[in-house]
Amino acid sequence: MMAKSSSSQKDILLYNTASRSLERLDWSEYRPVTIYTCGPTVYGEQHIGNYRTFVFEDVLVRLLKFLGIPLQRVMNITDVGHLTSDADSGEDKLEVGAQRDGITAWEVAKRYTEHFEADMRLLGVVWPDALVRATDTIDAQIGLIKALEEKGYTYIITDGVYFDTAKYPQYRDFAKLDVAGLDAGSRVEMGEKRNITDFALWKFSTEPGKRHMEWESPWGLGFPGWHIECSAIIKETLGNTIDIHCGGVDHIQVHHTNEVAQSEAAHGEILARIWMHGEFLLVDGGKMSKSLGNIYTLANLKAKGITAPAFRLFLARAHYRSKLNFTWEEAQIAQKQYDTLAAKALESAPQQSDIADQYIARAVAALAHDLNTAQVLAIGLEASKELEGGARTYALETIFTTLLGIHFSPGEVEEIPEQVQELARLRDQAREKGDWSTADTLRTKIESYGYDILDTKNESRIVKKVL
Ligand code: AMP
Ligand code: ZN
Repeated sequence: MMAKSSSSQKDILLYNTASRSLERLDWSEYRPVTIYTCGPTVYGEQHIGNYRTFVFEDVLVRLLKFLGIPLQRVMNITDVGHLTSDADSGEDKLEVGAQRDGITAWEVAKRYTEHFEADMRLLGVVWPDALVRATDTIDAQIGLIKALEEKGYTYIITDGVYFDTAKYPQYRDFAKLDVAGLDAGSRVEMGEKRNITDFALWKFSTEPGKRHMEWESPWGLGFPGWHIECSAIIKETLGNTIDIHCGGVDHIQVHHTNEVAQSEAAHGEILARIWMHGEFLLVDGGKMSKSLGNIYTLANLKAKGITAPAFRLFLARAHYRSKLNFTWEEAQIAQKQYDTLAAKALESAPQQSDIADQYIARAVAALAHDLNTAQVLAIGLEASKELEGGARTYALETIFTTLLGIHFSPGEVEEIPEQVQELARLRDQAREKGDWSTADTLRTKIESYGYDILDTKNESRIVKKVL
């Protein structure tokens, strides 16, 4: 059902944060375009803002796949080392999650990786070729730190091994950092660091045995700094230089700047040719925050009647480099629009048609111009009005599902079978009565269907067993 694409449509322009300009993607049919996307920190549920970033990355992947461009895409799972402050102070988020949920950091990582994977399935994303846990790559991370140490880029202070940014003069170039401004603003956070921008490569365990996650290293018992995992995973899975590196805009100043410094210092080659950053999703015009109680998950949306594909339709309205404001009113409008489109798309079997192909070609061209999803949406809506029958279904499925990842058929996104939902309801009732043995038996039954139950403070959720 793939529409044909001409070679001119295979010109893809992408905005490169590193050069601050639109650049043509250099690709060849003889080697895959290598893509690395920074993944979730699995200390809690991911919110709809995080999914805005993961969805924009999915649209990029879908465009390349549609055009038949070979690609290899890797995403990491941050399950250690991401501290509550970007300045290498504060606690490890995973250990904080462990205290909150009353389980180990390892269990926290498993629980929220499963949440994340279940959500990604609901959103119908094309699965990365590799999803790599930071904790599975500790040796590679230690190897990279050793390489940096041998080249003289590191120093050791009381709490860990640090990267000396003064030894890497290009440090500020990537984010066009105002280091003088940083100095003035954050003297307090310097501690024993030599420069304000220096960052931890390895942190020491201050009280051995207290953390759930710690490893032996040439520098003593401890755990990796947050940034080193991405550099190590990229090298292990995709090589020294990749084609495209993605993440949210909040990663530019610290996380990606540090990735660039440590990878390029260690390997002497550029880390990524194109850097793409997705702008933030705002809620009610501002940042999502705990104190405002407006950090929404996909489950919160579902509870208010907003489905995952309708959320994707909502996201498609804005260009990934513009801020987007989430309100329930706009989400409901997107849901209605989605329902109307789904009804039309499911009315007939898809039938290739030349006129539909013209709409599809326009949509592909819009996407190939730095992922202009808003224009693709407009073209898709036009096709839904102008076309009929099988041609309409063919156009809608190609434009909305194949390109934008908005699935119409309920079977395409994960639906939990009714028996499993009933068992979960019975288990909730048993738990309410404190009948733990019945609850355990029911959990085993649920597992036999290939599902699992995740209990958090406020809810129990059914997820497909994935690990
Ligand atoms: P984290 O789980 O904090 O590591 O974040 C996962 C991804 O979500 C990263 O690429 C962040 O840049 C991105 N992100 C975090 N908050 C938002 C937001 N409000 N809107 C869009 N992307 C976000
Ligand atoms: Zn990263």
